[in-house]
Amino acid sequence: MALITTFFASCSGPGEAETPWIVDRFDDVKVIRYEVPGFDALPLEQKELVYYLAEAAKCGRDIIYDQNCRYNLALRRTLEILYENYAGDRDCAEWKAVEKYLKKVWFANGVHHHYSNDKFTPEFSEAYLTEALASVPAERFGELNDRRETVLRLIFDPDFCSSRLDQRAGVDMLLSSASNYYRDVTQAEAERFYAAMADPSDPEPVSCGLNSRLTKGDDGRLREEVWKVGGLYSPAIERIVYWLERAEAVAEGTQKETIAALASYYRTGDLREFDRYNILWVKDTLSNVDFVNGFIETYGDPLGFKASWEAMVNFRDEEACHRTEIISENAQWFEDHSPVAPQYRKKQVKGVSAKVITVAILGGDCYPATPIGINLPNADWIRKEYGSKSVTIDNITYAYDRAAQGDGFLEEFMLRAEDRERIGKYGKLADDLHTDLHECLGHGSGQLAPGVTGSELRSYGSTLEEARADLFALYYLGDPKMVELGLVPSSDVAKAQYADYIMNGLMTQLARIEPGKNIEEAHMRNRKLIAQWCYERGAEDRVIEWIEHDGKRYVVVNDFEALRSLFGEMLSEVQRIKSEGDYEAGAALVERYGVQVDPVLHEEVLRRYRALNIEPYGGFVNPEYELVERDGRVVDVKVTYPNNYVEQMLGYSRDYSFLPTEN
Ligand code: ZN
Repeated sequence: MALITTFFASCSGPGEAETPWIVDRFDDVKVIRYEVPGFDALPLEQKELVYYLAEAAKCGRDIIYDQNCRYNLALRRTLEILYENYAGDRDCAEWKAVEKYLKKVWFANGVHHHYSNDKFTPEFSEAYLTEALASVPAERFGELNDRRETVLRLIFDPDFCSSRLDQRAGVDMLLSSASNYYRDVTQAEAERFYAAMADPSDPEPVSCGLNSRLTKGDDGRLREEVWKVGGLYSPAIERIVYWLERAEAVAEGTQKETIAALASYYRTGDLREFDRYNILWVKDTLSNVDFVNGFIETYGDPLGFKASWEAMVNFRDEEACHRTEIISENAQWFEDHSPVAPQYRKKQVKGVSAKVITVAILGGDCYPATPIGINLPNADWIRKEYGSKSVTIDNITYAYDRAAQGDGFLEEFMLRAEDRERIGKYGKLADDLHTDLHECLGHGSGQLAPGVTGSELRSYGSTLEEARADLFALYYLGDPKMVELGLVPSSDVAKAQYADYIMNGLMTQLARIEPGKNIEEAHMRNRKLIAQWCYERGAEDRVIEWIEHDGKRYVVVNDFEALRSLFGEMLSEVQRIKSEGDYEAGAALVERYGVQVDPVLHEEVLRRYRALNIEPYGGFVNPEYELVERDGRVVDVKVTYPNNYVEQMLGYSRDYSFLPTEN
């Protein structure tokens, strides 16, 4: 619900061959730097607020390592001491492999891949590592000497902690997952424990289990070790609270109260305090500087109770917010002119609020890999009663886009120079507007027929819902109204988006699918569904066409106007299916157009993609902030953009590491 992630920018224009945006690349990862435009122009108090909140965002880094696996801190610290003290040959292949492994551990906040959850496989031998470790004076490792055996087992025994998150049917998901949210507790025990705690009659239920580890005591009883000041992770949480208090002192208006509520929650561990904080936070739509800091998302817990620690500090991107404001103000016009049947249009569109932000710092589970959009809080009753805040992160998508320029992707997969040029020029704007229209209007549009609940489409529901929102965005991106509202300079923006969307849906998104598999993920099914349906419907008029050139296959859009009409027709049908809860038609549509993969085309896409050597995952180094003081008073905050991934990681481990090795 709350996270939008990106794998790789599907869209990249022609650019300089060498881009300074990528600061490191290893394995399947590229590390990018991002800039914080507008920071220098903030008033001093807001700069200070960003600084203190950024410090708070860095202090929880050890927490996410320990949450991901109880041996992660021992592993990271052992390898870091080796890295900083090793006097042997640093040019040989085995040392390079150790270095790469450590870079991967930093990137994933632990020994498991951040996306697949599988444990990393070392590309160096146990004998080599043991010898390298032995070459560093033992006293450098201190108490870590006692953990050496466990660390070696973690690296080299493939059956030990093999998956961070094991959700296969039929296994005990807690015992087989290496994450550290439960200790010696079976799945059935944990489920019983939390079932007994839930109160179905409470209209304002707290998020049970969100901020604690569940363990079994010597007496065989289960108990929660709460993450709070004086509880588990206290040394890190005390530092977070310290910086939150500094932030509170310079914050203004209700934001003071919001930050104080968060600090109070960290002190008490009381989940009612967390809800009080969330309500204050979601109601505050005026503060320019905003932040996320806490135990928020539960994707890492196979049972979905326990939240990983994450942080982010941001401020409004005024220019981009102006864009979403125009769209929101015209929401009723878009709804009234939508191509869906009149009875399925919404008579009164409610105020839609979404903002575009500039990120100033990423922390915890949002660093180095980060979402590009956030929608919080997660508690259903708070969302219903107080709404939610939805944000798009502009400077991060910009950095992704810049990092993708010149990587050869478009040259490889897009046949016509005019399409490549349009994407180079308008690709970013087109993607941004697509996201705005999809999020602000698409999902909120339309209405159900009387008696339909919206759950009739079952397992096809999310694919069809994504298709509905995408079709709404695609249809309106090509509407003359967009030019009239000043949102785009010309219809070339829509053309750029249409060519890119169809190519991705029919072809290039297959690069993310393993050979022999069909399309499973809802957003990917949706793109295939739309592209394939439009291709087949427009086949007679060659609206979309497959072309073979120099032994390679390409997909091209010949008639953009006709394609827009097809988007409109399809939107009308998908809305009808949703409004009427027509399961049969929905299932048939998705199965016929959205699932199947042509194995020959798939093989070709994988081969061509691999040859480009593009890393499928991206993450970021943070900017650095420094207080400028004169006569004991803060007079400015300076931002700089470091471009060394290893230095940033070692620096964070030196300056922001507060937890003991075992927690
Ligand atoms: Zn969506």
